[in-house]
Amino acid sequence: MYRFSFFPYRRQFIQPLQTHHGCWKNRQGILLKLTDDKGNLGWGEIAPLPWFGSETFLEALTLCRQSPKTLSKTEIFTISEKFPASQFGFESAWLNLTEKTPLTPELPNSQLLPTGEAVFSILESLKPEAGKTFKWKIGVTDIELELQWFDRLLSSLPPNATLRLDANGGLTWETANRWLAACEGKAIEFLEQPLPVTEFDEMLQLCDRYTTTIALDESVATLRQLETCIRRGWRGIFVVKAAIAGSPTQLRQLCETHRLDTVFSSVFETRIGREAALRLAARLQTVPRAVGFGIEGWFADEVVLKF
Ligand SMILES: [Mg+2]
Repeated sequence: MYRFSFFPYRRQFIQPLQTHHGCWKNRQGILLKLTDDKGNLGWGEIAPLPWFGSETFLEALTLCRQSPKTLSKTEIFTISEKFPASQFGFESAWLNLTEKTPLTPELPNSQLLPTGEAVFSILESLKPEAGKTFKWKIGVTDIELELQWFDRLLSSLPPNATLRLDANGGLTWETANRWLAACEGKAIEFLEQPLPVTEFDEMLQLCDRYTTTIALDESVATLRQLETCIRRGWRGIFVVKAAIAGSPTQLRQLCETHRLDTVFSSVFETRIGREAALRLAARLQTVPRAVGFGIEGWFADEVVLKF
Protein backbone atom coordinates (compact mmCIF):
# COMPACT_ATOMS: atom_id res chain seq x y z
CA MET A 1 0.00 0.00 0.00
CA TYR A 2 1.10 3.58 -0.70
CA ARG A 3 0.36 6.72 1.26
CA PHE A 4 -1.03 9.35 -1.08
CA SER A 5 -0.91 13.15 -0.87
CA PHE A 6 -1.43 15.85 -3.48
CA PHE A 7 -0.55 19.51 -4.02
CA PRO A 8 -2.48 21.67 -6.51
CA TYR A 9 -0.47 24.42 -8.21
CA ARG A 10 -1.09 27.36 -10.49
CA ARG A 11 1.56 29.10 -12.64
CA GLN A 12 1.16 32.23 -14.65
CA PHE A 13 2.39 32.51 -18.22
CA ILE A 14 4.62 35.55 -18.72
CA GLN A 15 2.72 36.21 -21.95
CA PRO A 16 -0.76 34.63 -22.15
CA LEU A 17 -0.65 31.85 -24.73
CA GLN A 18 -2.90 32.31 -27.75
CA THR A 19 -4.43 28.98 -28.77
CA HIS A 20 -7.28 27.95 -31.06
CA HIS A 21 -9.31 27.61 -27.88
CA GLY A 22 -8.75 31.11 -26.60
CA CYS A 23 -6.29 32.78 -24.34
CA TRP A 24 -4.45 30.68 -21.75
CA LYS A 25 -3.21 32.71 -18.76
CA ASN A 26 -2.52 30.18 -16.01
CA ARG A 27 -1.34 26.59 -16.02
CA GLN A 28 -3.03 24.65 -13.24
CA GLY A 29 -2.06 21.16 -12.26
CA ILE A 30 -1.57 18.82 -9.32
CA LEU A 31 1.60 17.24 -7.96
CA LEU A 32 1.16 13.77 -6.48
CA LYS A 33 3.27 12.04 -3.85
CA LEU A 34 3.25 8.33 -3.04
CA THR A 35 5.12 6.95 -0.02
CA ASP A 36 5.71 3.25 0.55
CA ASP A 37 6.02 1.53 3.94
CA LYS A 38 9.82 1.98 3.90
CA GLY A 39 9.47 5.74 3.42
CA ASN A 40 10.49 5.76 -0.27
CA LEU A 41 8.91 8.57 -2.27
CA GLY A 42 7.50 8.71 -5.79
CA TRP A 43 6.39 11.91 -7.48
CA GLY A 44 3.89 12.36 -10.29
CA GLU A 45 2.01 15.20 -11.92
CA ILE A 46 -1.47 15.73 -13.34
CA ALA A 47 -1.30 18.45 -16.02
CA PRO A 48 -4.70 18.43 -17.78
CA LEU A 49 -5.41 19.92 -21.20
CA PRO A 50 -9.19 19.69 -21.59
CA TRP A 51 -9.27 21.15 -25.12
CA PHE A 52 -7.14 18.19 -26.18
CA GLY A 53 -9.67 15.79 -24.66
CA SER A 54 -8.34 15.29 -21.13
CA GLU A 55 -10.27 15.82 -17.92
CA THR A 56 -10.37 19.37 -16.52
CA PHE A 57 -8.23 20.54 -13.60
CA LEU A 58 -11.33 20.55 -11.35
CA GLU A 59 -12.28 17.01 -12.35
CA ALA A 60 -8.74 15.85 -11.54
CA LEU A 61 -8.81 17.73 -8.23
CA THR A 62 -12.12 16.07 -7.30
CA LEU A 63 -10.62 12.68 -8.14
CA CYS A 64 -7.65 13.38 -5.83
CA ARG A 65 -9.89 14.65 -3.03
CA GLN A 66 -12.09 11.56 -3.23
CA SER A 67 -9.18 9.13 -3.33
CA PRO A 68 -8.35 7.22 -0.13
CA LYS A 69 -5.27 8.32 1.84
CA THR A 70 -3.64 4.98 1.09
CA LEU A 71 -3.77 3.35 -2.33
CA SER A 72 -3.02 -0.15 -3.60
CA LYS A 73 -1.17 -0.77 -6.85
CA THR A 74 -4.46 -2.02 -8.34
CA GLU A 75 -6.20 1.25 -7.44
CA ILE A 76 -3.38 3.23 -9.03
CA PHE A 77 -3.59 1.21 -12.24
CA THR A 78 -7.38 1.19 -12.60
CA ILE A 79 -8.16 4.90 -12.84
CA SER A 80 -10.86 5.46 -15.45
CA GLU A 81 -9.88 6.33 -19.02
CA LYS A 82 -12.03 9.43 -18.61
CA PHE A 83 -9.07 10.81 -16.59
CA PRO A 84 -6.07 10.35 -18.91
CA ALA A 85 -3.97 13.10 -17.27
CA SER A 86 -4.65 11.53 -13.85
CA GLN A 87 -3.76 8.05 -15.17
CA PHE A 88 -0.43 9.51 -16.25
CA GLY A 89 0.09 11.30 -12.92
CA PHE A 90 -0.67 8.36 -10.62
CA GLU A 91 1.15 5.74 -12.68
CA SER A 92 4.21 7.87 -13.19
CA ALA A 93 4.37 8.52 -9.42
CA TRP A 94 4.29 4.75 -8.93
CA LEU A 95 6.96 4.22 -11.63
CA ASN A 96 9.09 6.95 -10.04
CA LEU A 97 8.87 5.10 -6.72
CA THR A 98 9.42 1.57 -7.96
CA GLU A 99 11.69 1.90 -11.00
CA LYS A 100 14.96 3.49 -10.09
CA THR A 101 15.75 4.56 -13.64
CA PRO A 102 18.84 6.73 -13.97
CA LEU A 103 18.40 10.37 -14.85
CA THR A 104 17.22 11.05 -18.36
CA PRO A 105 19.97 11.69 -20.89
CA GLU A 106 19.68 15.13 -22.48
CA LEU A 107 17.55 14.89 -25.58
CA PRO A 108 17.79 17.74 -28.08
CA ASN A 109 14.83 20.10 -27.91
CA SER A 110 13.07 21.79 -30.79
CA GLN A 111 12.69 25.55 -30.55
CA LEU A 112 9.30 27.11 -31.24
CA LEU A 113 9.65 30.12 -33.51
CA PRO A 114 7.31 33.14 -33.29
CA THR A 115 4.24 32.69 -35.48
CA GLY A 116 3.87 34.52 -38.79
CA GLU A 117 6.08 37.39 -39.85
CA ALA A 118 7.25 37.87 -36.24
CA VAL A 119 9.66 35.02 -36.94
CA PHE A 120 12.00 37.40 -38.76
CA SER A 121 12.44 39.57 -35.69
CA ILE A 122 14.34 36.84 -33.85
CA LEU A 123 16.17 35.12 -36.72
CA GLU A 124 19.26 37.27 -36.41
CA SER A 125 19.64 36.42 -32.75
CA LEU A 126 19.66 32.65 -33.43
CA LYS A 127 22.98 31.03 -32.74
CA PRO A 128 24.19 28.85 -35.59
CA GLU A 129 23.99 25.49 -33.83
CA ALA A 130 24.52 22.57 -36.15
CA GLY A 131 21.49 20.32 -36.50
CA LYS A 132 19.19 22.49 -34.40
CA THR A 133 15.45 21.82 -34.89
CA PHE A 134 12.94 24.67 -35.23
CA LYS A 135 9.17 24.61 -35.33
CA TRP A 136 6.98 27.18 -37.03
CA LYS A 137 3.17 27.42 -36.89
CA ILE A 138 1.36 27.78 -40.19
CA GLY A 139 -2.25 28.13 -41.30
CA VAL A 140 -2.75 31.27 -39.24
CA THR A 141 -3.14 33.89 -41.97
CA ASP A 142 -3.34 34.31 -45.76
CA ILE A 143 -1.59 31.41 -47.51
CA GLU A 144 0.06 33.56 -50.21
CA LEU A 145 1.78 35.62 -47.52
CA GLU A 146 2.73 32.60 -45.47
CA LEU A 147 4.28 30.85 -48.48
CA GLN A 148 6.41 33.95 -49.17
CA TRP A 149 7.54 34.03 -45.52
CA PHE A 150 8.22 30.30 -45.73
CA ASP A 151 10.69 30.80 -48.61
CA ARG A 152 12.35 33.67 -46.82
CA LEU A 153 12.51 31.65 -43.58
CA LEU A 154 14.15 28.69 -45.32
CA SER A 155 16.87 30.89 -46.75
CA SER A 156 17.52 32.65 -43.41
CA LEU A 157 17.73 29.70 -41.00
CA PRO A 158 21.17 28.72 -39.72
CA PRO A 159 22.94 26.13 -41.88
CA ASN A 160 22.00 22.49 -41.19
CA ALA A 161 18.93 23.58 -39.25
CA THR A 162 15.89 21.31 -39.35
CA LEU A 163 12.45 22.84 -39.76
CA ARG A 164 9.09 21.34 -38.77
CA LEU A 165 5.79 22.97 -39.61
CA ASP A 166 2.67 22.75 -37.43
CA ALA A 167 -0.75 23.61 -38.85
CA ASN A 168 -2.74 22.58 -35.75
CA GLY A 169 -5.44 21.18 -38.05
CA GLY A 170 -5.94 24.62 -39.58
CA LEU A 171 -5.54 23.83 -43.30
CA THR A 172 -8.10 22.75 -45.88
CA TRP A 173 -7.60 20.04 -48.49
CA GLU A 174 -6.62 22.73 -50.97
CA THR A 175 -4.21 24.68 -48.75
CA ALA A 176 -2.67 21.45 -47.38
CA ASN A 177 -1.89 20.42 -50.97
CA ARG A 178 -0.36 23.81 -51.67
CA TRP A 179 1.81 23.62 -48.56
CA LEU A 180 3.00 20.11 -49.30
CA ALA A 181 3.76 21.04 -52.91
CA ALA A 182 5.82 23.96 -51.58
CA CYS A 183 7.70 21.60 -49.23
CA GLU A 184 8.74 19.19 -52.03
CA GLY A 185 12.51 19.05 -52.35
CA LYS A 186 13.06 21.18 -49.23
CA ALA A 187 14.54 19.93 -45.98
CA ILE A 188 11.31 19.86 -43.97
CA GLU A 189 11.36 17.28 -41.20
CA PHE A 190 7.57 16.97 -41.14
CA LEU A 191 4.26 18.80 -41.39
CA GLU A 192 2.24 18.40 -38.22
CA GLN A 193 -1.56 17.93 -38.22
CA PRO A 194 -2.40 19.64 -41.55
CA LEU A 195 -6.14 18.87 -41.38
CA PRO A 196 -8.73 18.64 -38.59
CA VAL A 197 -9.03 15.40 -36.58
CA THR A 198 -12.15 14.43 -38.55
CA GLU A 199 -10.22 14.33 -41.85
CA PHE A 200 -8.09 11.29 -41.16
CA ASP A 201 -8.55 9.63 -44.58
CA GLU A 202 -7.58 12.85 -46.34
CA MET A 203 -4.35 12.99 -44.29
CA LEU A 204 -3.61 9.38 -45.31
CA GLN A 205 -4.04 10.46 -48.94
CA LEU A 206 -1.66 13.37 -48.42
CA CYS A 207 0.99 10.90 -47.18
CA ASP A 208 0.76 9.05 -50.51
CA ARG A 209 0.86 12.17 -52.63
CA TYR A 210 3.94 13.93 -51.25
CA THR A 211 7.39 13.05 -49.97
CA THR A 212 7.25 15.26 -46.84
CA THR A 213 6.34 13.18 -43.79
CA ILE A 214 3.12 14.05 -41.99
CA ALA A 215 2.80 13.89 -38.21
CA LEU A 216 -0.44 13.53 -36.26
CA ASP A 217 -0.82 15.50 -33.03
CA GLU A 218 -4.41 16.55 -32.20
CA SER A 219 -5.57 13.26 -33.81
CA VAL A 220 -3.62 11.14 -31.31
CA ALA A 221 -4.09 13.00 -28.01
CA THR A 222 -5.11 9.88 -26.05
CA LEU A 223 -4.13 6.21 -26.17
CA ARG A 224 -7.50 5.24 -27.64
CA GLN A 225 -7.06 7.71 -30.48
CA LEU A 226 -3.51 6.50 -31.00
CA GLU A 227 -4.75 2.90 -31.28
CA THR A 228 -7.48 3.92 -33.68
CA CYS A 229 -5.03 5.70 -35.99
CA ILE A 230 -2.65 2.70 -35.96
CA ARG A 231 -5.57 0.39 -36.81
CA ARG A 232 -6.67 2.67 -39.62
CA GLY A 233 -3.23 2.48 -41.17
CA TRP A 234 -1.28 5.55 -40.02
CA ARG A 235 2.42 5.00 -40.76
CA GLY A 236 3.65 8.57 -40.38
CA ILE A 237 4.88 10.23 -37.20
CA PHE A 238 2.92 10.33 -33.94
CA VAL A 239 3.32 13.37 -31.67
CA VAL A 240 2.86 12.10 -28.10
CA LYS A 241 1.82 14.45 -25.33
CA ALA A 242 2.55 11.85 -22.70
CA ALA A 243 1.09 13.82 -19.78
CA ILE A 244 -2.42 13.70 -21.28
CA ALA A 245 -2.18 10.45 -23.27
CA GLY A 246 -3.19 8.21 -20.35
CA SER A 247 -1.42 5.22 -18.80
CA PRO A 248 2.36 5.39 -19.39
CA THR A 249 2.69 1.60 -19.08
CA GLN A 250 0.08 1.09 -21.82
CA LEU A 251 1.77 3.78 -23.90
CA ARG A 252 5.06 1.89 -23.66
CA GLN A 253 3.37 -1.32 -24.81
CA LEU A 254 1.66 0.35 -27.73
CA CYS A 255 4.80 2.14 -28.96
CA GLU A 256 6.99 -0.94 -28.56
CA THR A 257 4.54 -3.38 -30.16
CA HIS A 258 4.07 -1.21 -33.25
CA ARG A 259 7.56 0.35 -33.28
CA LEU A 260 5.97 3.77 -33.71
CA ASP A 261 7.94 6.75 -34.95
CA THR A 262 7.16 9.21 -32.15
CA VAL A 263 8.01 12.77 -31.14
CA PHE A 264 7.35 13.46 -27.45
CA SER A 265 5.98 16.86 -26.63
CA SER A 266 5.13 19.03 -23.63
CA VAL A 267 1.81 20.32 -22.27
CA PHE A 268 3.54 22.94 -20.09
CA GLU A 269 3.92 20.59 -17.17
CA THR A 270 6.44 21.20 -14.34
CA ARG A 271 9.79 19.44 -14.03
CA ILE A 272 8.08 16.45 -12.38
CA GLY A 273 5.77 15.67 -15.29
CA ARG A 274 8.44 16.62 -17.80
CA GLU A 275 10.98 14.17 -16.38
CA ALA A 276 8.43 11.37 -16.44
CA ALA A 277 7.59 12.18 -20.07
CA LEU A 278 11.27 12.47 -21.05
CA ARG A 279 12.01 9.07 -19.51
CA LEU A 280 9.37 7.65 -21.84
CA ALA A 281 10.79 9.62 -24.76
CA ALA A 282 14.32 8.32 -24.11
CA ARG A 283 12.98 4.78 -24.14
CA LEU A 284 10.38 4.99 -26.89
CA GLN A 285 11.53 7.40 -29.60
CA THR A 286 12.79 5.00 -32.27
CA VAL A 287 14.15 7.67 -34.62
CA PRO A 288 16.52 10.34 -33.28
CA ARG A 289 14.38 13.46 -33.36
CA ALA A 290 14.27 16.56 -31.18
CA VAL A 291 11.60 16.47 -28.47
CA GLY A 292 9.13 19.32 -27.97
CA PHE A 293 9.91 20.42 -24.41
CA GLY A 294 11.49 23.79 -25.06
CA ILE A 295 9.32 25.74 -22.61
CA GLU A 296 11.90 27.71 -20.67
CA GLY A 297 10.98 31.35 -20.53
CA TRP A 298 7.19 30.78 -20.61
CA PHE A 299 6.63 31.04 -16.85
CA ALA A 300 7.66 33.71 -14.38
CA ASP A 301 7.99 31.20 -11.55
CA GLU A 302 9.17 27.66 -10.95
CA VAL A 303 6.80 25.56 -8.86
CA VAL A 304 8.29 25.46 -5.39
CA LEU A 305 7.28 22.65 -3.10
CA LYS A 306 6.70 23.86 0.46
CA PHE A 307 6.55 20.98 2.91
MG1 LIG B 1 1.13 20.30 -32.71
